Amino acid sequence: MRVPLIAGNWKMHLTLTEAAELAAAVARVAEASPDREVLIAPPFTALAAVKAVAGSRLLLAGQNVCWEEKGAFTGEISPLMLREAGCRMALVGHSERRHLFHEDNRMVNRRLRGAMAHGLIPILCIGETLAERDSGRTLETLEKQVREGLDEVELVDPAKLVVAYEPVWAIGTGKTAGPAQAQEAHHFVRRLLAGLYEKNIAAGVRILYGGSVNAANVDEIMAQADVDGALVGGASLSAESFERIIRFN
Ligand code: PEP
Repeated sequence: MRVPLIAGNWKMHLTLTEAAELAAAVARVAEASPDREVLIAPPFTALAAVKAVAGSRLLLAGQNVCWEEKGAFTGEISPLMLREAGCRMALVGHSERRHLFHEDNRMVNRRLRGAMAHGLIPILCIGETLAERDSGRTLETLEKQVREGLDEVELVDPAKLVVAYEPVWAIGTGKTAGPAQAQEAHHFVRRLLAGLYEKNIAAGVRILYGGSVNAANVDEIMAQADVDGALVGGASLSAESFERIIRFN
């Protein structure tokens, strides 16, 4: 059984006071929702303030993670630092990292393996651009991102990896993949995982959908067979809309 995971990516938003207030509100919803996992990825500087109010059911993630433990890596964050700050997970390969900061599959793979080596669960973000979708290269793009992102990665416990399918054209644009489009991509990713790992492992890995998920569309997206949760940007910045998303039907 795949426990649904609703994750909020706060990106580069919120003051410390706002972060603590929102996290406290989300923590209350998480406490009241024992059948699903709730996660937020605040800016690194807000992790301590968020941890202080998170309680036991609100999980934390880094928005990115370095493959090294320490050293001369200005601007990066160590997996050990994330662990110490209370993180259980870390995003790797978010579309903004890939497209604004030119992180390629090889770098994403290094980050993913670094996270795993230090006991963090990576959330491997993948997704096609509009040009790739329009030219019929969606599945090819996803396959490359999955295969190269998981290069040399052994997986014996499906709980140790999360994949997030986020079509680039849907992130922060108000456009969402239709439920059938999301299901097609998720099913394809699960089949790829079944080619890389044991069948029961592929069946157990959670695949989140991301891209303008909001209170109005979450129910139909979550109703898809291979959609196991949501990665939410904009709508995770309001306690009200994120609560509705966490409480999807
Ligand atoms: C994201 O940041 O991963 C995301 C999906 O953003 P939004 O929900 O704002 O599209």
